[in-house]
Amino acid sequence: MGFVYYRDDGIVLRTQDLGEADRIITVLTRRNGRVRAVGKGVRRTKSRFGARLEPFTHVDLLLYAGRSFLLRSLAVAGYAPALDECAVCGSPDLPAAKGSRVFAIAAGGLTCRSCRPAGAVTPSAHTVALMGALLRGDWAQADSAERRHQVECSGLVAAYLQWHLEHSIRSLRHVEHA
Ligand SMILES: [Zn+2]
Repeated sequence: MGFVYYRDDGIVLRTQDLGEADRIITVLTRRNGRVRAVGKGVRRTKSRFGARLEPFTHVDLLLYAGRSFLLRSLAVAGYAPALDECAVCGSPDLPAAKGSRVFAIAAGGLTCRSCRPAGAVTPSAHTVALMGALLRGDWAQADSAERRHQVECSGLVAAYLQWHLEHSIRSLRHVEHA
């Protein structure tokens, strides 16, 4: 009897410390949906991987089926959306008409009025604030958000991640069996 290993990749949604050295990581993966994994020893100082396991980080995963998934290691690239300044020109002057913001998925986050591309969506400012809380790891604020903003945020995050996953150049490896 061996473990079945397989590879996937996805985006870290949140992390929680576990014990002294471990961390529980929730990842939205390309092929396995939402996965909660235990990163063993990732908080030890020698773990370069652990140091970069932050929300909105793109990770390659080696998973094996067990009592949780165990997340082993891997490569990383930042995918955080711009929320404090225009994703295109860097202007901090972001429109908030009727309490909403302009969010452009392909541009990489919020945009100002003049950079607003066709197809941009206009989420509530509360939803954008929730996304910022998720980025910072502020779970108290994230958990206290209104349900409708959580729903809007998760839809927006899913669309954002899906677009950026599909447009990232990656070579995916085949399923591996140990
Ligand atoms: Zn702009």
